[in-house]
Amino acid sequence: MQSVIHLEQLRKSYYLGKQELPVLKGIDLDINKNEFVALMGPSGSGKSTLMNILGCLDTLTDGKYVLNGNDVSKMNDNELAEIRNQEIGFVFQQFNLLPRLSALENVALPLIYAGVSKKERTERALEMLEKVSLADRSHHKPNELSGGQIQRVAIARALVNRPSIILADEPTGNLDSKTSVEIMGLITDIHKLGNTVVLVTHEEDIARYAKRVVRLRDGLIETDQTREELALHA
Ligand code: ADP
Ligand code: MG
Repeated sequence: MQSVIHLEQLRKSYYLGKQELPVLKGIDLDINKNEFVALMGPSGSGKSTLMNILGCLDTLTDGKYVLNGNDVSKMNDNELAEIRNQEIGFVFQQFNLLPRLSALENVALPLIYAGVSKKERTERALEMLEKVSLADRSHHKPNELSGGQIQRVAIARALVNRPSIILADEPTGNLDSKTSVEIMGLITDIHKLGNTVVLVTHEEDIARYAKRVVRLRDGLIETDQTREELALHA
């Protein structure tokens, strides 16, 4: 089977003046279609850096990244933006909704960049809000919604482009435990509908929703285990 995500000796350094800060130090990773992977590891281990590269928001320093058969490591900024819009849906810890726009307008936003007509944008955004059970809140602004509702709007926005991959970086990081369970239920449903999901979390309870757990330490993969393998060692 062809991997959706294929990484070979991926390296990423940040440069502070002439000073090199190596963050990812040679990551080999394959993620297949419709996998649900939790990415764990201590703060500062490089999880968000890796997610930004997987999502084509940032470029790698060395190595290879092939996304759905496309060699991302060789792409320029325009090509990266295009593949990002086609393939990736992001859900962040910070909800990143635009405060002046309604829930519907926030969800429709990615479709403007994709050049979709206004009528179709509204239809598709409403369809997504229905999927996250928020159709009745479509005209509310973010400050008129609860934290859980805001994150559901963010998930609807991540899905509106019909991406193949959902990247969620600590999506429950700002939510209470009851709301976290609700959001994880939603992400699990999305996975069941056929999306590949990569989820960053530092909470074991949240990682339990995933079928495979990859742990980073100091810029390298420390362990990569399926749910079954983890259960054997529990
Ligand atoms: P995690 O998400 O696992 O907590 P990050 O990927 O955010 O880790 O950060 C890994 C390391 O890279 C940290 O030491 C962090 O300070 C550094 N870092 C992250 N982003 C930048 C940046 N834009 N410029 C410089 N250093 C960064
Ligand atoms: Mg992080």
